[in-house]
Amino acid sequence: MTADATVFEHVPCALCGADDPEPLAWLDDLRFGTLPFPLQLVACRRCGFRYLTPQPRPGCEQAFYPDEYDPYRRTSLTACARRILLRREMHALWPLLAPPRRILEVGCATGELLQVIREAGNPDVVGLEPEPTAAETARARGLTVLTGTLATVQFAPGSFDVVLLQHVLEHLAEPRRALEQIRLLLRPGGSVIIWVPNGASWAATVFGDAWMGYDPPRHRSVFTPATLRQLLAETGFTVLDEHHEWHGLEWAWGLRLLASRAGAHRLERSLARFHLPLILLATPVAALAALARRSGRIRLIARTRPSDAQAMP
Ligand SMILES: [Zn+2]
Repeated sequence: MTADATVFEHVPCALCGADDPEPLAWLDDLRFGTLPFPLQLVACRRCGFRYLTPQPRPGCEQAFYPDEYDPYRRTSLTACARRILLRREMHALWPLLAPPRRILEVGCATGELLQVIREAGNPDVVGLEPEPTAAETARARGLTVLTGTLATVQFAPGSFDVVLLQHVLEHLAEPRRALEQIRLLLRPGGSVIIWVPNGASWAATVFGDAWMGYDPPRHRSVFTPATLRQLLAETGFTVLDEHHEWHGLEWAWGLRLLASRAGAHRLERSLARFHLPLILLATPVAALAALARRSGRIRLIARTRPSDAQAMP
C-alpha cells in the first residue's frame, strides 16, 4: 500500500533527527475511521522515540479532525464531568496560575480550561487555536482567543508567565520547535505545563494498538516521561513535577477501541452508553497505575532554565 504523497509524508525522528525507524505496529484510526490505510508506529533506533510515519503533511490535518472530534464538541454530561476534573486540577495548580500571572494556552480548543482559570480568579488568560469554529466558540465565552498556531501568531518575547499545552504536543509536527518558541514567550523563570499520553503506561501495554493514546493520525508522537524530559532539557527547561492521572478514562476508551478493532460495533455502542460508569469502574486500576508511575495520562511542569549567556556573571 502506498501512502498518498500529497497528504502524507515520511518523517525523521522529532527528538534526535535520525531517520532510522524500527517498525513496531500498524495503527488505524479506530475512533473516527478517517484513515484510508493504517499508518506505521516506529521507534527511532538512535534514541528510542516513538512516532508515526508517514504522517499528514502540515496543513493537511483538517481532514482527520471530524466535526464530532470531542475536544471541539462535548456532550453536556462529559463537559460537566470534565469541568469538575479541571476545577480540581486547577485548584492544585493555583500557586502557578494565580494573578498577576499572564497565561497562554496553546491549542485551547473551545476554551474550557481557560474558562475554569478565569472563573477561579485569574482573568489574564489568552488562547491560541488553529480550528476556526472551536476558536469562535471560545470567543463566544468571552475569552481572548486568537485563531492560529505558534508559527502564525506573533507574541512579544517574555510576555507570559505560564504556557499550557493540554494534550497538544503529541499533535504537533515539530514539538521541539514549539517548545523553543514557548521558551522565548516565557519571562525568565516562567513555566510550561504539559499534559500528554504516556507511551510507557500499563494501559499502552494492555491495549496495544487499541490504546487511546495512539489516536492516529491526530497524534504524531508518542511521548514517555523519559523522552518528554529529554526534549524539555534540550529546549531549556528544568522539570519540577511529574504527575500521573488516576481516573479510568483511558481504560474505558481502551475497551471501546478494542471492540471497534474487532468489528463489534454493537458492543462498542453499548460500551459508549456506559462510558462514565466504565470510567468509574476502572478507576481503581488507573489509581494503581498512577501509584506505580505508569498512568497513561501524565502532566509535567517545567521552568525555564537561564541560558548560558544569562547565567554568565
Ligand atoms: Zn531519535
